Amino acid sequence: MSGVLHLHDTATGQIAPFTTREPNKVSMYVCGPTVYGPPHLGHGRFSLNFDVLRRYLEWSGYEVTYVSNITDIDDKIIERAASESRDPAEIAQRCEAVWWTAMDAIGVKRPTFSPHATEYVSDMVELIAELLERGAAYVAEGGVYFRPGVVDDYGLLARQSIESLRAGARVEVDDSKESPIDFVLWKLAKPGEPTWESPWGPGRPGWHTECVVMALDLLGEGFDLHGGGQDLAFPHHENERAQAVALGKRFAAHWAHNGFVETDGEKMSKSLGNFTNLLDLVESVDPRAYRMLCLQAHYRSPFEVTAATVGSAESSLGRLDGLARRLSGVTLPEVDPQADILDGFRERMDDDLDTPGAMAIVFTTVTRINTALDAGELLTAAGAAGALWSMLEAVGLDVREVGSPDDVPDVIAQLATARDTARAARDWAGADSIRDELTAAGWIVEDSVGGTAVRRP
Ligand SMILES: [Zn+2]
Repeated sequence: MSGVLHLHDTATGQIAPFTTREPNKVSMYVCGPTVYGPPHLGHGRFSLNFDVLRRYLEWSGYEVTYVSNITDIDDKIIERAASESRDPAEIAQRCEAVWWTAMDAIGVKRPTFSPHATEYVSDMVELIAELLERGAAYVAEGGVYFRPGVVDDYGLLARQSIESLRAGARVEVDDSKESPIDFVLWKLAKPGEPTWESPWGPGRPGWHTECVVMALDLLGEGFDLHGGGQDLAFPHHENERAQAVALGKRFAAHWAHNGFVETDGEKMSKSLGNFTNLLDLVESVDPRAYRMLCLQAHYRSPFEVTAATVGSAESSLGRLDGLARRLSGVTLPEVDPQADILDGFRERMDDDLDTPGAMAIVFTTVTRINTALDAGELLTAAGAAGALWSMLEAVGLDVREVGSPDDVPDVIAQLATARDTARAARDWAGADSIRDELTAAGWIVEDSVGGTAVRRP
C-alpha cells in the first residue's frame, strides 16, 4: 500500500485508498466547537488529529482547503446566557476567543475558513424551504422537522438500519414529531431567545443544518473528507448527510472519526486534579505534550490522559529537545535526508495514519543519530537528522534547543511534591500510588534528605 494514503471510512467500516476530487487538492470539513464554555480535552484531540492529517497531506504535496465552523447559536449558549443574564452573542464571542487561544497554544493551524452559523441563517432558511418542497420535511408544533425515512441508506454512518434506529430512539412525551428519529431543522423561538425571520415564524436553525450549508457553500458537492470526533458520526453527521442526499446532492466522499479521550477520575491523579479543561492542561505542562500523546495513540483508539501519560509524553519531548541541543553544537555536512527512513515513515502514515508506528520510527532515528554522533559518523548523522526534521514537520512537532537533558518536567516535579505532602500527612497509600504513577511515567523514585527525588533510569 506504499505511496497512497489509506484511511478508514466510517461509511463503509473499511480502510480504503483516499482519493480526491481534484488531483493534488484536498477539501476537508471538520465540525468545530459550539462556543459556550472552555474547550475540553476531546476538543483538543479532534483538533490535533485533523491538524496532523492536514499537515501530513500538505507535507505529501497536497494543497488543503480546511473548513471548520464555529457554532455561535445553540441551546447551550442561550441557556448559559439566561442563567448569567448576559447576551448570547457576547458569550459566543468570548468563548470563541478562548477557543483560538487554546488552538494556538497546542499548535493547531488555523482553518482556511472558519464560518459562523449566524452568518449562514438565510442560506439555511433556503435549504429548509427546499426540503419542505421536496417532501423531505414537514411543519409541526415547535418548528420544521426532517423525515429520515426519505433517505434510502439512512443509518449509513451509525452502521445501523433505520428500523433499529427507530426502535432505539427515545420517544418524548410531548412530541409532535411523526417519528422519534425525525430531527429539527428550524426551531420556533421561545420568548426572550435570539431569533431570525423565516416563512415558518421567528426562530433559529437546528445544529445539523449549519454544517451542510457551510460545507456545500465553501467546498462544493462531493468534497473529499468530512471529519470529527466519533460522537458526531451519529446523529450529527448522519443528519447532515441525510439533508444533502434528500436534496439530490453529493456530500462528503469520505468520513473519518477519531476516538475518545478518557479522563477517568479513578485513573487521574487526585493530587493534580483532572485535566479536563484544555487550557488548564497546556498551562500546567509543556503544550506540545498533548500533541505527543495524540500521536502516540492511534487516532481511532481511545487514550487516557493521566499524570503518568502526560509525564511520559514530556519525557519523549525531552529526548527530541536533547538531540536538538546536541546537534546545535555540531556542524553537519549538507546531505539529503535519508530516504529509507522517510519511506518507512510514509508507509506507517499511509496505513490509516499509524502515528504510533511513525513515532517509533522517529525515536529509532533519534537513537541512530546519537549513535552516529558518538562514533563521529557525521554523514550518517546528517542524513538521519534531515529525515528526522522532515518527519517532525509532517506531524507538527516543534523541538527546542533550550534547557538541560536532566530537566524534570513540571508535571513530574508536581507529583514528587504531592508525594511528599502525602507522606507528611501519613497517607501511605496515597504516597505509594503517586510513586507508581512516577514509575509508570519512566522515572526512578528515591527518598532523599530533601524529600522525593526523581531521576531518569
Ligand atoms: Zn457539524
